[in-house]
Amino acid sequence: MKTATRLVHAGRNPAAQQGMVNPPVYHASTVLFESLDALERAAANPFEGVYYGRNGTPVQFAFEDAVAEMEGAFGAVTTCSGLAAITAALMSEAEQGAHFLVTDNVYGPTRKLCDGLLKRLGVTTEYFDPTISAEALEARITDATRMLFVEAPGSLTFEISDIPALADAAHRHDATVMADNTWATPLYFNAFEHGVDISIHAATKYLVGHADAMLGVINCNETHYMNVRKTAAGMGYCAGPDDIYLGLRGLRTLGQRLPTHQANAIALADWLAEQPEVARVIHPARADHPQHALFARDFTGSSGLFSIVLEPVARDRLAAMLDHLELFGMGFSWGGYESLILSVDPNRSRTATRWEHDGPTLRIHAGLEAVDDLIDDLAAGLKRLRA
Ligand SMILES: *Cc1c(COP(=O)(O)O)cnc(C)c1O
Repeated sequence: MKTATRLVHAGRNPAAQQGMVNPPVYHASTVLFESLDALERAAANPFEGVYYGRNGTPVQFAFEDAVAEMEGAFGAVTTCSGLAAITAALMSEAEQGAHFLVTDNVYGPTRKLCDGLLKRLGVTTEYFDPTISAEALEARITDATRMLFVEAPGSLTFEISDIPALADAAHRHDATVMADNTWATPLYFNAFEHGVDISIHAATKYLVGHADAMLGVINCNETHYMNVRKTAAGMGYCAGPDDIYLGLRGLRTLGQRLPTHQANAIALADWLAEQPEVARVIHPARADHPQHALFARDFTGSSGLFSIVLEPVARDRLAAMLDHLELFGMGFSWGGYESLILSVDPNRSRTATRWEHDGPTLRIHAGLEAVDDLIDDLAAGLKRLRA
């Protein structure tokens, strides 16, 4: 069945809940067992069915079934935020003396985790150019290399890596391949078909989709599922049932929302590329993106987030543009129904490469508004920039 249909039906079982369309949201810590037998049976298998609130409730199991099905994963593990999903995944491979290879355009807090907590635990992280060839990557793999981490397109700068080739190189040396797949969602990049073992999603973004909950989910293949599940559980990670409910509810309309984010972002990118104040538009779905061919080969769509580089401009002119936008909000996160714009400095969180830019870099999230209104808002902003 097609994606839109699967999104509506994945993880649903109305017959098990008195015909209700959606699963119940149980608020639970204690789960009572009827007998010593039942208690001992549950304790032998604490990850099957309900056991204790921290190990999950029916709404979590429904969310995990649905997300795993959408990406063709063996199983999914829910966490309380996208960063917690990344932490659990990385911790599942962390050990004293391990070597991690991480893309240089990785989400900033992922880098902080590697350079902070993981370093203290004795894990060495080496960063590589996201456009690295498989041969060059393989040359960096040592006996200690346990994990390859990719993120395509990369946070802020949107490079596309050759994930299948890099994954092959990692697998030749028994390293686990993880991807932060938040941008594409399970709809536009099937990580497992491209060699990834563990696909991480900040569900806070498009899955929740309404800027009203923090949530993470880790899709795993069969080899890694139980290790990731036990690592997340061992660290005490769990998400609240109301937030998981919002993730599941958001998933049902992802097939309608994402194409609108996509169309609005491409329309904004194409319009911005024509403006004299804009030096460069960085959107992987545009033919002028340096890795557009890789994007066209591996991705089935693009979401709503991209960047532009402005021509050099005084800070007060930039502030005049950004401070008075009516529709674009300034703030962290993205993936909600509303448009956002953020001034960013990619060089603050990269070490293996440098971000070459003329003027300021702006990251734009195209929301679900009418795109003509968004263009009018940006046009007025660029007029203030020029004034
Ligand atoms: C936002 C984000 C995260 C972290 O998600 P939170 O839910 O905010 O913790 C991870 N990766 C990427 C690419 C993100 O944009």
